[in-house]
Amino acid sequence: MKKFTKDFTLQEPIPDEGIELALGVLKTGRIHRYNTMHGERGYAADLEEGFADYMGAKYCLACASCGSALYIALKSLGVQNGDIVLCNAYTLAPVPGAIENAGGKIELVEIMDDYTIDIEDLDRKAEKTKAKFLLLSHMRGHMANMDKVMEVVNKHNLIMLEDCAHTMGANWNGKKSGTFGKAACYSTQTYKHMNSGEGGLLITDDDYVMARAIMFSGSYMLYSAHTRRPALEVFEKIKKITPNYSSRMDNLRASLLLPQLKNLDEQCRRWNVLFNHMAARLDKISGCVCPKRDNREYYVGSSIQWNLPKATYEQIQTFINKCAERGVSVKWFGNKEPNGFTSAYDSWQYFPYLSNLDLPHTKKVLATMCDMRLPLTFTAEDCDLIADIIEEVVNEMDLN
Ligand SMILES: *Cc1c(COP(=O)(O)O)cnc(C)c1O
Repeated sequence: MKKFTKDFTLQEPIPDEGIELALGVLKTGRIHRYNTMHGERGYAADLEEGFADYMGAKYCLACASCGSALYIALKSLGVQNGDIVLCNAYTLAPVPGAIENAGGKIELVEIMDDYTIDIEDLDRKAEKTKAKFLLLSHMRGHMANMDKVMEVVNKHNLIMLEDCAHTMGANWNGKKSGTFGKAACYSTQTYKHMNSGEGGLLITDDDYVMARAIMFSGSYMLYSAHTRRPALEVFEKIKKITPNYSSRMDNLRASLLLPQLKNLDEQCRRWNVLFNHMAARLDKISGCVCPKRDNREYYVGSSIQWNLPKATYEQIQTFINKCAERGVSVKWFGNKEPNGFTSAYDSWQYFPYLSNLDLPHTKKVLATMCDMRLPLTFTAEDCDLIADIIEEVVNEMDLN
């Protein structure tokens, strides 16, 4: 019986250059981002410069995590207690968490068969709720038709925040993911496209949003040390009415990221070689359905999703167990119980109204959707072996 033995959670090591920079930080002890020598910029600020340039954004702020960056972004965009925030129902737990943290009321929007937001449902719910905000989560790197999303955003004057945790390096029709909304957040947590253990990056072109975000992130009134920031006058207006939520990135983490940023596009290209190989194999397995992707979507295939439409709830559980016995780690967002990093919207019960919410299409899609990481430590041969195992389990269980 074929078995796969590599670890689905193993990312590549930090590049030597990052280790060198990190050692330099450790040797000085100047790890805190504001603990710099006179006239020195510090790696956290260097990273903000580099990422803003990469994105073509005016401003960038490095935060402690993407979840905290999302929370700070929502607050900075003006979300107040009780404000409705529209959000696609298929996303990761830190996203509803950030909305709750900002005092927002989440209004979930259905997804379609291709895992992206249902634009008609978005239009309907924006109309019905008169919401001012949309948090669009490009979950697992799946980008909706952004032209259509923007039509609805403009029609309802929605203030859009993009969650780009899995679309760092991706674009829609040549326009970078994260440049459609008023602000966007990225993750540098270990399983995303750059790895500093934990970390988040927030971009915006808006003076007030960035000044507020810097204050919220905990600048201790040292905001002038930021270089990708609006003019100091903007801070003067808000500095006494903006609390410090202490959620900064430090120079140590930033040092790990600087060389990774230089190599980001190449890493994305490598991910897509793996992804396209895996997708081509899965496509040939009778019983597996990989939704077709729009050719305007330049995605980064750091994970792959597919459906097993013939499977029942019990069968999906068995399928996952059988794959796991043979070393293939498949995740399932349709599980009734939250498990590992997966959870479905009906288990976010800190929004009590979600437990009774019916999103029939999202439920149906997630019920038979499988999710698998593709770390860059895997090879094309690894993908073949994984696909062989998946195919054998699908056939053995008559899911084809
Ligand atoms: C990982 C992730 C986040 C949050 O990132 P953290 O840095 O872990 O807080 C947000 N949204 C999505 C879709 C993610 O996958």
